[in-house]
This record gives sequence, structure tokens and C-alpha cells, in this order.
Amino acid sequence: MDRRLFLGGAVATTVAFALGRHSMAASEETESTTADFPAINKTKSEWKALLTEQEYAVLFEEATERPWTSPLNKEKRDGTYICAACYLPLFHSDTKYDSGTGWPSFYQAIPGHTGTSRDWKLLIPRTEYHCARCGGHQGHVFNDGPKPTGQRWCNNGVALKFIPSSGELPELRA
Ligand SMILES: [Zn+2]
Repeated sequence: MDRRLFLGGAVATTVAFALGRHSMAASEETESTTADFPAINKTKSEWKALLTEQEYAVLFEEATERPWTSPLNKEKRDGTYICAACYLPLFHSDTKYDSGTGWPSFYQAIPGHTGTSRDWKLLIPRTEYHCARCGGHQGHVFNDGPKPTGQRWCNNGVALKFIPSSGELPELRA
């Protein structure tokens, strides 16, 4: 096989894909992830019925909660942070740190459990991330975090539920 032809084809495909997605919607360039959990496919109105108004606004309309309002800012116990919509675990407490921003912050998400997209809401590109299972918006990831990753996963507290390690993780919502 001609290697140059092969590579050229791959690049063309990638560019066409990126352009296609971009013209569709600026905030929907979702990366694919390898799912090791059961799929979920609820409509927005089904989610609306299950969630509080604030949870729904953040998770499915990409609203941002006011800083310093989440009780999870002060949460320091060992445990797991799960998606408030579908209950998929997204962060472990040992990756949480105090970023001083007023939002719960982590230096790492559980691998494969989030997807990312570009977001141009503030006119500069930001990396939005969401639950890989239900698509619920969680927050934005920045490159000014602490070691070992240097990342800051800045999460809306209302989009997460904390399950202490003394408790039991709920079953994923069907
Ligand atoms: Zn979810």
C-alpha cells in the first residue's frame, strides 16, 4: 500500500469531519470514548422530569452555577463524585483540590467517563466536558491545574453528587 496515499486520505477525512461538525454547531465536536458502561438515551423532557430546575439548566442547557454556592466546595471526605443525571462516576476524591475559584475542582477525571467539545461562548475557545454516558454538561477543563496532570477540571457542583466511601454507589440510572 502506498503510505503517502493512505496518510493523505486519513488527513482529508479528519479535516472533512472537523469541518462538517463545525458547520453543524460550534459546541458539538464530541470526541468518541470507549464506553465500558451501559448506554442511556433519555429525551430532554424525560431528564427535566427527573432533575431539579438548576440541575437541568446546568446539565442540559449548559448554564453555569454561581461560584461559591456549591456545598461540594467544602467536601473533603473520601468518596466518588458521580454525574447528577445518570450517576456515572466521574471523579475520585483523591483528585479533588481547592482551586480557589468557587467551583469544585479536580486535576483528573476518571478515564473514559467524560467527553469534550470546543465551546466558544466567551469568544475564546474553551474545552467543555460532559458525562460520557448521558451527555450532561459538567464544566470546563483548563491547563492551569496542579501536578501531576497540570489540568483543572472546573465542575459545576450541582451537576455532581458526592457518595462517601462509607456509602454505596447508586445503580446507574436506566
Ligand atoms: Zn451522566
